[in-house]
Amino acid sequence: MDERSHWAWGHASKFPDAQARGQLGRLLAAVLGVLPPSPTEPVAEGDCAVRASGVVVPPSLAAVCTTDDGVRLRHTYGRSFLDQYRGFLGDFRSAPDVVARPEDEDALVAVLRWAASAGLVVVPWGGGTSVVEGLAPREGERRGGVVVLSLRRLNRLLALDETSGLAHLQAGMTGPEVEAALAPHGLTLRHFPQSFEFSTVGGWLATRAGGHFATLYTHIDELTAGIRLRTATGAVWESRPLPGSGAGPSPDRLVLGSEGTLGVITSGWLRVRPRPRFRASAGVHFRSFDAAVEATRAVAQSGLYPSGCRLLDPTEALLNQVATDGSAVLLLAFESAHRSVRGPLEEAVRLAEAAGGRLPRPVTVQDDGDAKRDAAAASWRKAFLDGPYLQSTLISLGMAADTFETACTWATFPALHAAVKAAVRSAFDGRPGRLSCRFTHVYPDGPAPYYTWITPMAEDVPAQWAAVKGAASEALLAHGATITHHHAVGRMHRPWYDRQRPEPFAEALRAARKALDPQGILNPGVLTDADGG
Ligand SMILES: Cc1cc2nc3c(=O)[nH]c(=O)nc-3n(C[C@H](O)[C@H](O)[C@H](O)COP(=O)(O)OP(=O)(O)OC[C@H]3O[C@@H](n4cnc5c(N)ncnc54)[C@H](O)[C@@H]3O)c2cc1C
Repeated sequence: MDERSHWAWGHASKFPDAQARGQLGRLLAAVLGVLPPSPTEPVAEGDCAVRASGVVVPPSLAAVCTTDDGVRLRHTYGRSFLDQYRGFLGDFRSAPDVVARPEDEDALVAVLRWAASAGLVVVPWGGGTSVVEGLAPREGERRGGVVVLSLRRLNRLLALDETSGLAHLQAGMTGPEVEAALAPHGLTLRHFPQSFEFSTVGGWLATRAGGHFATLYTHIDELTAGIRLRTATGAVWESRPLPGSGAGPSPDRLVLGSEGTLGVITSGWLRVRPRPRFRASAGVHFRSFDAAVEATRAVAQSGLYPSGCRLLDPTEALLNQVATDGSAVLLLAFESAHRSVRGPLEEAVRLAEAAGGRLPRPVTVQDDGDAKRDAAAASWRKAFLDGPYLQSTLISLGMAADTFETACTWATFPALHAAVKAAVRSAFDGRPGRLSCRFTHVYPDGPAPYYTWITPMAEDVPAQWAAVKGAASEALLAHGATITHHHAVGRMHRPWYDRQRPEPFAEALRAARKALDPQGILNPGVLTDADGG
């Protein structure tokens, strides 16, 4: 296994060479109508500016904690556009003072107690793939120093209840580690966020991650039967794994999405399932995006609940080489471990055709289990996992590019979509740019639209990014949409999250935080302010 990049998405070895980047630059120039950009190089890891550590680790924790510059550099940022941009420039001045990597809960609690007594701030760290500034405290939030508490060494399958279909997984397991532990039992979690390769069980639970299923089991919430965490004071918060419970408000529901503010998640009981053996898929093309939206709504409200129901607008379809003739495309997929899914797929296709869609290629049906599945699954998986490398590549080509996502009702989508397009175009401020839209998940009452934008970098890149982010987020809020469907809140979404949530709820959240973390050591600034605001 090769090493992860110190600034970009994923493995360092996958960052394209200057020639490949030059080729991409010429393509982009043609799309945007600008001169081909020349690729530039990131600052080498050894030349990066890393903040000096200002904290002395007590001898009792020397085996668990490090102040090594290289380790701290690699625990500075998540992987938002600005994280990567700063990393590309070699700016690691917000590095933590200490990185702690406990191997068990006792050591983890010892770190929490030391941090509390020394007036330090603690940042729980899973895979470091946050795209919402969930990881690096801002200057005013650092107090006596910052300790990153990595869960990566808590990465075992603790128990498997095959009768009930439940796996007890430690928080630091990455997606591939989870699947590798379940595969010998013929089981799978089937939670495949695009960050699957590096993100962790604890990170998924803490951020309410969205995964593979486009309908029904869209978030990790639906796969969660129980959660264990340690509060800032070391207290154990553990729910029993249950298929359902009406015993008051759900402790799990409070922890899901708490983003490291209520405690450190150490494990979770998650619902696993037999690996699918029957699959069916189709791509339905539409001349009009509006018709494609109507077709998607018909499928979402049909009760068929496809596992895949991804609508691509014409730009997304073009960029992903799914359709090059200006069509919008609805990608439909069904899967089952037990029976053929040809029937439900054909029914969904009929609904889409009735709304104006056409099927340029016959549906694909795999009813014979593993043999055929592997090739198809492997090529889909490759395209899905390689996608994030593009954003890092674009930075080296002088392109600002980012994504934002939301959910809204079907009734509000047309106006919201028009407003988002207008807002982003105007925030491009006269520069050429592209905005595309796809639906990642769909519900009977509305879609989860996911937008991607790209424009050449301005002189002040953070200000340029903030202008686009601000304009888009204001449009979302004004049209009744959520500031995030699955990327979480972090610090980045606070200005809009604070206006979206009911104020009495915010008060309750602050009170819960105070009760569980009286000294306010965990993730100050995430979800609520460091000073209790
Ligand atoms: C290329 C790319 C693709 C992505 N695709 C998706 C996607 O498809 N779906 C999706 O939902 N998200 C996606 N994300 C966002 C991100 O991967 C998710 O938010 C993910 O759940 C974060 O997991 P992590 O283990 O990397 O957590 P981290 O990034 O390490 O942490 C995220 C937040 O959770 C807290 N935290 C982490 N672990 C714990 C713990 N054990 N206990 C308490 N708090 C903890 C951290 O303090 C931080 O605030 C993507 C990100 C990137 C860069």
